[in-house]
Amino acid sequence: MILVTYHTLDGLALGVKTGRGILDVAAACRRLGCTGLPHGVNEVLGLGTEALEPLRHLVGRAEAHPDLFRAESELRLGPPVPRPGKIICVGLNYRAHAAESQMEEPEYPVLFSKFGNAVAGPGEEVALPAAAEQYDYEAELVVVMGRRAKGVPAEAALDYVLGYCNGNDLSARDLQTRTSQWLLGKSLDGFLPIGPYLATPEEVPDPQNLRIRLWLNGELRQDAHTRDMIFPVARLIAYISRYMTLEPGDIIATGTPEGVILGRPERDWLKPGDRVAVEIDGLGRLENTLVAGD
Ligand code: MN
Repeated sequence: MILVTYHTLDGLALGVKTGRGILDVAAACRRLGCTGLPHGVNEVLGLGTEALEPLRHLVGRAEAHPDLFRAESELRLGPPVPRPGKIICVGLNYRAHAAESQMEEPEYPVLFSKFGNAVAGPGEEVALPAAAEQYDYEAELVVVMGRRAKGVPAEAALDYVLGYCNGNDLSARDLQTRTSQWLLGKSLDGFLPIGPYLATPEEVPDPQNLRIRLWLNGELRQDAHTRDMIFPVARLIAYISRYMTLEPGDIIATGTPEGVILGRPERDWLKPGDRVAVEIDGLGRLENTLVAGD
């Protein structure tokens, strides 16, 4: 199943992408009734994997009601997880990216965080403040948790996943490296575009078997494969959940492969007007335009 959010006059609404279009979940619930599903996008995401069966059931019953489906092209999609609980990011999780960053290959996952202010949707403009200069992109596979996880072994870890989406871990390198803590350069407003699709695990049976690509103004800049992660998704969940409880709606950005501007001989940092697009197999296309900020 592929979940989306989209903008309405009343805020973000939840949709399910189907062959007939995007199912308007709230309208379907009003007409057909839906047991087991709370109201509101964040509440459904907070329910996690338990929401999937009621949603599937609703999609099935809605088939006889074509007016409950909307054309995707007529909707403005939002971030599939509008208000993540935790945003945990993994640094240097691909060997070739660690090498281009002139950093050691890590012995343990390098973890840092972003805050909710960083979340942006597909198509959203992202402002580059004038107070920094070295703006960079990072295509990443983002994992959305679907069940409470504490001390989960790697063998079972993928059972705790609600789904996967594209992410772009936008970074201000000058702020990231100003001190020993990367946070400031990572959590500017809008610096984590995600989406457009949240694909559940039956759509993505193996998160380590996905091509991941990023284009800058139409030029392919990153073209890699999730099999090259140093710490695969299951090991990341096991490692993190050994130390902190993960909840439904928490997200993990699993690191970027090689090809970032930092690693190029000519560091042509991002500038207003640039268009950055991320595509991972089955997760759609996440495109954002950068604009001048204050
Ligand atoms: Mn990153």
